[in-house]
Amino acid sequence: MAVDPADDTGAGIASAAGPRARAADLFPGGVNSPVRASRSIDAPPVLLVSGDGPYVTDVDDRRYIDLVGAWGAAITGHAHPAVVAAVQDATTNGFALGMTHPGEVALGEAIRAAMPSLERLRFTSSGTEAVMSALRLARAATGRDLVVMFEGAYHGHSDALLASAGSGLATLGVPASAGVPAVVAATTLVLPWNDPDALREAFRVHPDAIAAVIVEPIIANSGVIPPAAGWLETLREVTRAHGTLLVFDEVITGFRLGRGGAQARFGIEPDLTTLGKVIGGGLPVGAYGGRADLMTLVAPDGPMYQAGTLAGHPLTMAAGLATLAELRPERFVALEERVTRLAAGLWEAARDAGRADVSVVQAGPLLTLFMASTPPVDGAAAQRANRATFARFCRAMRARGVLLPPSQFEAWFPGFAHGDAEIDLVLAAAREALRT
Ligand SMILES: *Cc1c(COP(=O)(O)O)cnc(C)c1O
Repeated sequence: MAVDPADDTGAGIASAAGPRARAADLFPGGVNSPVRASRSIDAPPVLLVSGDGPYVTDVDDRRYIDLVGAWGAAITGHAHPAVVAAVQDATTNGFALGMTHPGEVALGEAIRAAMPSLERLRFTSSGTEAVMSALRLARAATGRDLVVMFEGAYHGHSDALLASAGSGLATLGVPASAGVPAVVAATTLVLPWNDPDALREAFRVHPDAIAAVIVEPIIANSGVIPPAAGWLETLREVTRAHGTLLVFDEVITGFRLGRGGAQARFGIEPDLTTLGKVIGGGLPVGAYGGRADLMTLVAPDGPMYQAGTLAGHPLTMAAGLATLAELRPERFVALEERVTRLAAGLWEAARDAGRADVSVVQAGPLLTLFMASTPPVDGAAAQRANRATFARFCRAMRARGVLLPPSQFEAWFPGFAHGDAEIDLVLAAAREALRT
């Protein structure tokens, strides 16, 4: 692999018996989730042994400022003392007990208090399961089979959502992964983001057949692509007019755009919501919930089956509850101020380096530096960003002790633990990296 000479990725790669080599032997791509492999930046995987606040440390004892943030889960910073204490406390009572634990009630109530549209909810063990279940529920409630999603969004790896747009507007989806049956992908319509005409066309071609429209209210899985003004309102109006449910996938935005998530921020009430990442405080988690009349269809109250052996795990509930207690409104404000300063500093660094091919997109506490001369407005535009240039930038940042998500198509996740000092270090590294 072509590694930037400036990229000192450590001794682990050279050692045949090192953990990186052993991981490569054991796991596909050396990883248990593909993006961790860092292939899209042509770099070796990073193996991390610990995290503290805004920092992570790798197997070669290199410390990085962490902007991966566990892909959004680590909003309080790593090993936050209150979260660690809560989990340690919970361990003495046993782990999964196989029946309902009061911790489930406590976290569920805390979520509902922050996001009142979740009149009832259920915990799962991952965001993927939460989304899969919410869409099953939408189909159960409407008796319809089709689901609309948007190009560039990610809703977990369930078969039906690993779909790409078919050729032509409003045509049924085709598999985006080997192993996904064509008939399953065809239950998904993949539409361009921020495009009301395409939305209306889909409903014209498939009247009374669309169970749900699912959105990341801010797309954060192609890099950050905010909704255009009025777009979320249009989604709400059009779905309501057609008896289609609107599902907000807030696995990233929930408890990151503020306690109320994107729905509070944009003032739009979805019918169903999915959550994950932050609400587990770094332990495996997902949740889905929404209107009580819909949630009543879930087993054993209703005919829609959904279950989970480890769902509502006591350790996850303890970590989630301790994390939510840290999510005070003034901390979100402070985080956004720092992210705004980071975004402005990146723009300035790009300008000073004479780079017209860089744009920085910020949406609240989320941001992405795109190697694109204008900020992408949809998934297709994001795909046109220059990945090779981004790869060089990302490796140069890594060599300077800043761990960015190793792909052009990911959001950066600064959290509460990133202080002004860390922002300054990231900006200093970026100024150098953008000149190389
Ligand atoms: C991460 C993510 C998921 C999937 O969650 P997992 O816990 O990885 O299964 C679903 N939706 C969105 C928006 C995500 O970012």
